[in-house]
Amino acid sequence: MIKIKDLTKHYHTEQGSIEAINELNLEINDGEIFGIIGPSGAGKSTLIRMLNLLEDPTAGSIMVNEVNLTDLSSLNLRQARQKIGMIFQHFNLLSSRTVLRNVSFPLEIAGVAKKQRIKKAKELIDLVGLADKADNYPAQLSGGQKQRVGIARALANDPDLLLSDEATSSLDPESTKSILDLLAKIREELNLTIILITHEMGVIKDICDRVAVIEEGRIIEKGSVLDIFARP
Ligand code: ADP
Ligand code: ADP
Repeated sequence: MIKIKDLTKHYHTEQGSIEAINELNLEINDGEIFGIIGPSGAGKSTLIRMLNLLEDPTAGSIMVNEVNLTDLSSLNLRQARQKIGMIFQHFNLLSSRTVLRNVSFPLEIAGVAKKQRIKKAKELIDLVGLADKADNYPAQLSGGQKQRVGIARALANDPDLLLSDEATSSLDPESTKSILDLLAKIREELNLTIILITHEMGVIKDICDRVAVIEEGRIIEKGSVLDIFARP
């Protein structure tokens, strides 16, 4: 269970202080696919960077299974970060590495032995349906296939939480559908929690259990997808 309490992030710039997130409160259940939707500049990326422990909050806390992420020492922070997978709009693959070596990259960083990381990477490449592409380079793949690699890589360290930042925004409708189906399958099979940030209504409707609408750093509406979208 993730509990976000009074989370606040201010950026200090030459033009003054920007309040990107303002005393935001949110609880997300284990195994849930939770959607966060809102216009550009609403604070979605800032929120996800704090969840991913890439950015410190100005105030407030993020508790994951009773552990306050904002209190962790740097060693524990690194371990906690490994348990959070992230997928990106532009995939962020390493172009000089094959699919296999992209997927095993986080395991290399974690110091896993070569034989083990190849075994694990192959399992994940199978899971995302790219078994025949393991030795290809990213440039040889379609957008949807690249995102499959991104998903496999995000799962390398067996995360409890998968964060998706506009992961289908660069894809055509057909690839979007197949990536969303894959995320739903992964949630079922691996039983992890997925937080999905998007500006696409269709994505939310398709796979999210619950959704929060964010504007100017605040949640302005929250509920089950049916509740939010069925209103007249
Ligand atoms: P979204 O992802 O919803 O488009 P962001 O989280 O990127 O929103 O941005 C929220 C607000 O914070 C915007 O006003 C943006 O300009 C500002 N902002 C985001 N990142 C920074 C930064 N590193 N420095 C200064 N301002 C930032
Ligand atoms: P070195 O750094 O000792 O030169 P590498 O570890 O980079 O060697 O690679 C040696 C060989 O093993 C290369 O052919 C490379 O493609 C392969 N290899 C290395 N790491 C991986 C990995 N994680 N997954 C698959 N193949 C790997």
